[in-house]
Amino acid sequence: ARIVIAVDGTSGSGKSSTSRGVADRLGMRYLDTGAMYRAMTWWMLSNDVDVHDAEAIAAAAGKPVITSGTDPLGPTISLDGADVSVEIRSDQVNAAVSPVATVPEVRARLIALQQQEIREALAAGTGIVVEGRDIGTAVWPDATLKLYVTADPAARAARRAAEEGGSDAAAVLASLQNRDKIDSTKGGAAVPEGATHLDTTPYTLEEVIHLVVELVET
Ligand code: C5P
Repeated sequence: ARIVIAVDGTSGSGKSSTSRGVADRLGMRYLDTGAMYRAMTWWMLSNDVDVHDAEAIAAAAGKPVITSGTDPLGPTISLDGADVSVEIRSDQVNAAVSPVATVPEVRARLIALQQQEIREALAAGTGIVVEGRDIGTAVWPDATLKLYVTADPAARAARRAAEEGGSDAAAVLASLQNRDKIDSTKGGAAVPEGATHLDTTPYTLEEVIHLVVELVET
């Protein structure tokens, strides 16, 4: 389908698994914009840029070459040609990504890259599911379907801890809430106009994917 599905929402709400499942089901591409902010952050950490120095980050924001692989069954992210899919999930990146993502030069550069990916998917005739924090508001306000995905915070932390291979749910909850707090105080993290609010707490992943596919088809 030559459509754009914008998926915004909180960390650990199940929006990644949902987005990938929906893209797979509908033969669409999948773009994880959070991975792009994480790759930008990993580049700053690897190149000794102080992640709390907004001017230094702004000055470097144009340097990393970030490439996304958009297969929903195996999305990838590369920095200067090297796959960094594992590195971007590190604790170091978890702790630094939100401040890096608040720098306007970072946002402007990544939003432009994301819009380019969307135009390419539409030109290829596949359509694309784009997941992030500002997709329905800033990246592609004309999306065919806009979702705002949330889940109960404790359920979110338990899910994320399980995903991370049995890490401590309380520590995961604290980290998620800290990122949400920073994310919600900066521009663009709002609920998009016309978005369907989806609270995934009571549903299995399969049920959520089914619900979204039904929304697309109606
Ligand atoms: O989705 P994920 O948790 O991987 O995103 C990591 C961080 O990247 C978020 O906490 C947020 O600070 C930032 N982000 C953003 N805008 C997006 C996607 C992610 O600011 N569209």
